[in-house]
Amino acid sequence: MKTTRWLVAAVSLLLVASGAFAEDVAGLPLHVKRLDPTTVRVWVGDYISSTATVAFATSRGIVVVDTTGNPRIDAELRKVIARELGRSDFKVLINTHEHGDHTGGNSVYSDCEIVGHELVGKGMTPNSRNREQVAAWHASRTAELEKNLANLPADSPEGKRLREEVLVNRLGLEALKANPKPVPPTRTFADRMTLSMGDTTFELSYIGGMHTASDIAIFVPEHGILMTGDTMADVWLTDTPGCLASFIAREGVRHDFPLLLENWGLLLQKKDQIKMLITGHWNGELTLKGFEDRVNYVRSLWEGVNKAVAEGKSLADIQTAYRLDTRFPELARSPGCNLRNNYSTILEMWQVVTKQESAAARLYALIDEGAGEDAIHQVVADRNSTPSRYFFLEDQINGYGYRFLQQDKVPQAIAMFKANVELFPGSWNVFDSLGEALLKAGDVAGATAMYEKSLALNPESPSGKEALAKIRGTATK
Ligand SMILES: [Zn+2]
Repeated sequence: MKTTRWLVAAVSLLLVASGAFAEDVAGLPLHVKRLDPTTVRVWVGDYISSTATVAFATSRGIVVVDTTGNPRIDAELRKVIARELGRSDFKVLINTHEHGDHTGGNSVYSDCEIVGHELVGKGMTPNSRNREQVAAWHASRTAELEKNLANLPADSPEGKRLREEVLVNRLGLEALKANPKPVPPTRTFADRMTLSMGDTTFELSYIGGMHTASDIAIFVPEHGILMTGDTMADVWLTDTPGCLASFIAREGVRHDFPLLLENWGLLLQKKDQIKMLITGHWNGELTLKGFEDRVNYVRSLWEGVNKAVAEGKSLADIQTAYRLDTRFPELARSPGCNLRNNYSTILEMWQVVTKQESAAARLYALIDEGAGEDAIHQVVADRNSTPSRYFFLEDQINGYGYRFLQQDKVPQAIAMFKANVELFPGSWNVFDSLGEALLKAGDVAGATAMYEKSLALNPESPSGKEALAKIRGTATK
């Protein structure tokens, strides 16, 4: 008897180990994790940072949180959820935010009420030019990955990871080519919303601004589960964190810091009820401490920027006083946090508080649309007015100049760098960049003059020395 049992166990183990029981979805390994008796989390892939869908069986039907970017995968996952929960009365789909890898499979749930923040639909609106670019990117990336894959042993971890990436890229391309009409939420809210599903309550609150404009948190008190979408994570399970990689207020993403902080505060008041925090992708986890640290960090920044502006401090003062590594050393090496993200978040807060616009962004837009010198000069001259409408950052203006260079818009890059030279005549770096653009335009004499000015300000500049030596070398040949 004992022997037989042992034998059965050994054979089962062997079968599992050989993958005989493993299930695939569109060629990708399926993962099913039961969070509690009536809640299941499903995702595909062992390596890629794919979206994890969560489904709750409530007394009023099944509530699903998020889809993947691909309706083919979501149609299969829907079947898996029905099998796991032993029912198929799907009633509600909730989107944690607008990103395609969370809303791309909404069509699979078009028989359900789809709930999300009021800005999800706007964020999903397809931009046909963008779609073509993304399709072209997917096609070239797939070809590149396939080439790399051919040179790797198929059973090596790197080979398996690449194989998944190729598959995902192919699926992405297939979905893009099908060009499905986006299926936006059918029921939206701005600040907070409570969804009662009989024995289960879903407390939804806006927590956007540090990822997209439309992120929400979903708290389910009966299960002690708090879902935070892609807004944050403090533990990586893989070295390719994907969407969860940055905790940052980005340029161009709408912010409402007071509402964000209010809603985070309300969630933290319930922290004793939170038993489990769930992120939007399977490969990043969030601890309650990680959540609290991030909320406290944004609160300190927001209060600090408001106070400093009231005291008449400059943007540079604030950036120095609130540097991540010196002011928040505990977060400096934590996932999603870094100096660049911290810098950008302070910059966004500064703009909200002072209502000042970025001169760099304005100049970029003006030059790009072919505005005349007068218009450009008006912005530059604003530097001397108080209060000024714009804030001027040398690095930001230079960055936009290089963006023009990358787009092969050399005359526009020259105009941008010229404005920067006028604004920051004591900076060796802006002369160096103007020299680079002039050289690209074939203006050797102009470039030489700029490199010479740059070297006069910083005689040790290696790029200036190198450029001049090159120009002179070519000239003497
Ligand atoms: Zn996202």
